[in-house]
Amino acid sequence: MLVVMGRLQRVSGPVLDLLIPQRCAACARPGHGLCRRCLRAAATLRCSDGAPEHLAPGVLALAPFRYDGVIARAIRSVKTPGRHAAAVGLGELLWAEMAPRLGAAALWPRTWIPSTRARIRARGAEIPRLLAGSDARGWLRRVRQVGEQKARAGHERRRGPWGDFRCDQLVPYGVVMVDDVRTTGATATAAAAALRDAGARRILVITLAAVRNPNGPSANSPAEPYYA
Ligand SMILES: [Zn+2]
Repeated sequence: MLVVMGRLQRVSGPVLDLLIPQRCAACARPGHGLCRRCLRAAATLRCSDGAPEHLAPGVLALAPFRYDGVIARAIRSVKTPGRHAAAVGLGELLWAEMAPRLGAAALWPRTWIPSTRARIRARGAEIPRLLAGSDARGWLRRVRQVGEQKARAGHERRRGPWGDFRCDQLVPYGVVMVDDVRTTGATATAAAAALRDAGARRILVITLAAVRNPNGPSANSPAEPYYA
């Protein structure tokens, strides 16, 4: 028994994920990403227009789902320690939903908005990275952690999240940047600024879900997809 335990302890991370039966992220029934029942429920949360929001010059955000119901449950669930494996299936759902909307951006490289070290430790994984897929590149890094933010002087804090991210290499003209949820768009805007400093001129922010802008999509969205 001790020998078996010792072997199990050496099998960890992605290998262990393969050994554990796959569960629906929203309801924990057997399933990959979402089970059939939750997929049907998710269909009612689709944003038919992709919930476009123009965050900054050259930075457009899109999401296939509203942040509500099974989608909100699934996202909260994969952030629970030990349940991150289902995020890979949610990522496959994300790209299947987004494929018809990506246009030329389907060929752009993907990166993700990095989580803080504390969140990665607590969750056992970096959820945006799992959503982005295995081909995604880790171009961004956090330069300030949340704890450090509290210690900043008042005048610096007022500058908001700008400068929280850095990209240490040159990146292509067009980049797809992935996160789990878009709420105010402030984090994505700050991360996109780091990619712009590194050479990107068109950044498509893709999140699994978006909290609708209360002013409505027409108030803050481009007339045409700029990335086509
Ligand atoms: Zn389910």
